[in-house]
Amino acid sequence: MTDIAANLRAVQTRIATAAARVGRDAADIRLLPVSKTKPPECVLEAHRAGCVRFGENKVQEAMDKWEALAGTAVEWAVIGHLQSNKAKYVARFATEFQALDSLRLARELDRRLQQEGRRLEVLIQVNSSGEPQKFGVEPEETVELARQLTAFDALAVRGLMTLAVFTSDRERVSQCFRRMQEVQRELQQATGEPWPELSMGMSGDFELAIEHGATCLRVGQAIFGNRLDPNHYWPGSMPVQS
Ligand SMILES: *Cc1c(COP(=O)(O)O)cnc(C)c1O
Repeated sequence: MTDIAANLRAVQTRIATAAARVGRDAADIRLLPVSKTKPPECVLEAHRAGCVRFGENKVQEAMDKWEALAGTAVEWAVIGHLQSNKAKYVARFATEFQALDSLRLARELDRRLQQEGRRLEVLIQVNSSGEPQKFGVEPEETVELARQLTAFDALAVRGLMTLAVFTSDRERVSQCFRRMQEVQRELQQATGEPWPELSMGMSGDFELAIEHGATCLRVGQAIFGNRLDPNHYWPGSMPVQS
């Protein structure tokens, strides 16, 4: 078994254990491997070990891998902030987008998806930590944006995504996750829709996220190992602008 396959098994075991501890069914929790900075060969390795969808936070890098792995069953989830002028690329190749944070971006994605004859699974990114440098809508603005999104036929809006505060202080991380559960409940009450997806939890905090109802875990380093220089995502790839 390769390292990646072994890491994957280990993460899946940890997910099952954490889910059991809080009485959840591990089948309700999807693992989204995050392959950013890793070459297509690593994605293929994880694909052979059973993974189908992969998370990438940069559009150009995701597109390069999409092209490199054309002809496989691999699907792509863009999980990083997106400028409206790059919506056209995401509309072309992504199956899922987890960082929707404005009406303007939603409109542009929908327009481009209609042109492509495609649909996109979407999560609204919420800034649950209140850190000014983090992307995402404010928790208080989420219901309003969610209501506006019903106008866009090409967007299948499934729920919420967040990045918790990056700290070893578990209580502060938990606060972010609890805030997300509150926002999800507000949305459910305001709209009568289920908004079932809660994407939260990464390599350092996914077990805590499971305790707080996460349904999608975005895990990079625990599966693929330490990240390479983010500007050189695989040998011989795109030029670097700094
Ligand atoms: C990189 C990244 C992850 C995964 O982080 P790890 O610590 O490697 O597990 C999750 N979510 C987003 C948005 C990311 O950019």
